[in-house]
Amino acid sequence: MEVNSICGKSKTSLENFVFKSFATYSAERDLVMNSPRNGNNGSRRKEIPINEESDEFVYAAVEKFFGQLENKASNSNATDREANSSKVNTRNAAEELSKQFNRKVTRERIYPLLWEGLRRKFVTMNPPISENLQNQLAEKFGLKDSDKEIRVVNVVGKDASTHVVHSTADYVVQLIERVQQEKNEKAADEGKDPADVRVHVGIGAGYVAEILAERLATRALTDNPKLTLHALTPGGFYVERQENSPTAYFLRFADKQLDVKCRGMFSPPAVSDQNYDKMRQNPALKGNFVERENIDILVTSLATAEDEHGLVRRYFDYLKENGYFEKDVNEELTQKGWCGDVLFQPYSATEPISGSLRTIALFTLDELLEFSRKPGKHVVLVGAPCHDCDKLKTKALLPLLKEPRLRMWTQLFIDRRTAVDLLNRE
Ligand SMILES: [Zn+2]
Repeated sequence: MEVNSICGKSKTSLENFVFKSFATYSAERDLVMNSPRNGNNGSRRKEIPINEESDEFVYAAVEKFFGQLENKASNSNATDREANSSKVNTRNAAEELSKQFNRKVTRERIYPLLWEGLRRKFVTMNPPISENLQNQLAEKFGLKDSDKEIRVVNVVGKDASTHVVHSTADYVVQLIERVQQEKNEKAADEGKDPADVRVHVGIGAGYVAEILAERLATRALTDNPKLTLHALTPGGFYVERQENSPTAYFLRFADKQLDVKCRGMFSPPAVSDQNYDKMRQNPALKGNFVERENIDILVTSLATAEDEHGLVRRYFDYLKENGYFEKDVNEELTQKGWCGDVLFQPYSATEPISGSLRTIALFTLDELLEFSRKPGKHVVLVGAPCHDCDKLKTKALLPLLKEPRLRMWTQLFIDRRTAVDLLNRE
């Protein structure tokens, strides 16, 4: 079903209505800005500045405005001019708001409150899902009776990857709530205090983390779960872009004043093949590997081997071009049939692969596969087109769909174009 944020109704007609109404608002805004609170005359009571209105008041205004649109959209007389008039809609919302908060709210006040609600991110767009494409993919890759779920976000165009990420973030928020509830019930059964329950989330993809923090913050009005975030990789791949490293993204959560603990991962991004096991046993990393068992939900993206924006490719190029490592690891991986990487762990069409330098992450692909099979654990993978060049990730996705050894995900989010491309492949 096509769902739009608060209303859950047809997006196009609603969108048109909202934007038309907002256009009307500009004239009304002038009216409000020139109202007595700005000192034109003293005959009316001073209004509270919009940005000082409480969250619950602003939210209620947004909810009442959209709520009645929802009712009308489900009414067969939805095209009725009178019913859809912006005057009637704002008047009704203002009346309800006045009643609920026991203060006089004028019709002209509603649009400024809606703008404020948008600014505070109370209104979100929920892109539609294509069940038809999901079913076709599940059929094609033999996933129908498995615990794997493919979500096809039915979006196209240059912003498709952004919409897929938004959709994933919303899903993860719901997942966090579900996991919290399950853990609360378990804690109560075991005579423990549910207030101590934390939901553990492994964060791999920067942009997803950013949107996730935003989405969680908009729900901070109610009881937000206590979160522990785990970096899935060391930040060293972002040589000159440390602002994109996992620990930098933790700040986004801290900024939102959520109850959040952040566990970073500090090691070199890659070590030579012969030092790999020793490095993973290093005492400095021990805590990370012990604590990873607590992770409930792991969210990550993937890269296609040949995409120049892939961080593994970039990092090994950086080492080679600067003479820091004599071997061409990208070439070594290509010789082994490199298709893509998840958590910076490269794989071919059939198995995990590595070169003379090996990348460090909280899980190897085999470990991630084992983790994804445990009850109550979720590995959410975002397979949207590259955020930089919009190229599809089909080549990297195919092995993750076809090869049981590489199906280390439980939920996969893709866009419409990727879904169609996957269906057209052998
Ligand atoms: Zn790219």
